Amino acid sequence: MEEKKEAKSRFKRVCVFCGSSPDYKYCYRKAAVDLGNELVSRGLDLVYGGGSVGLMGLISEEVHRGGRHVLGIIPKALMEKELTGVTLGEVKPVDHMHQRKAEMARNADCFIALPGGFGTLEELFEVTTWSQLGIHNKPVGLMNVEGYYDPILNFIDKSIDEGFIYPSQRSIIVSASNAKELVQKLEDYVPSHDGVVAKAKWEAEEAEASTSDLKTETAP
Ligand code: AMP
Repeated sequence: MEEKKEAKSRFKRVCVFCGSSPDYKYCYRKAAVDLGNELVSRGLDLVYGGGSVGLMGLISEEVHRGGRHVLGIIPKALMEKELTGVTLGEVKPVDHMHQRKAEMARNADCFIALPGGFGTLEELFEVTTWSQLGIHNKPVGLMNVEGYYDPILNFIDKSIDEGFIYPSQRSIIVSASNAKELVQKLEDYVPSHDGVVAKAKWEAEEAEASTSDLKTETAP
């Protein structure tokens, strides 16, 4: 039997945020498929919002076809097939959106946002904010396909210029135009900012997080 060659990775499972819209250009379709292949070639599993709509369906299909584990976290209210389509692999139903995001984050070693809309942006900025606060130090990647995210990256630079984001926090979001380069940058990522919530307990709250929202502990 032919042995599959996998590049070594320090990650086990990657969380991907991406558009749910069925109307997308070929370059975005290709980006989702390429990212799926890149994860498979590194022996990485996927956690995502579940279902088969839009780019979400493409990446989950690719990772599942490549023999890796796919975990879809779906709020019960979105579980009807018309809303999410069919999820390949394992489905974890949760009670609401906040729990979904906490579960996706808890189950991943790093995050990647493919092109998407409000949902994707919200997910991207939430994990970025959690990194800024020191709730986690997992790498956050932006797949800037054909400059799709240039306006967001420019806005972040403006926000730094205007003093709303510390320059050291600029490096929280790592970006690249293609899957191979992006995943490599995430592998090489070293946090260079200090979280302001030094005592936040992320992993220690694992058991709790599966049944409730993400919580942080305040200092006594
Ligand atoms: P958007 O970029 O607005 O299309 O939202 C996509 C993101 O929000 C995904 O990463 C999902 O986690 C979540 N999401 C939005 N709509 C759906 C849906 N119909 N089914 C599953 N997840 C969704």
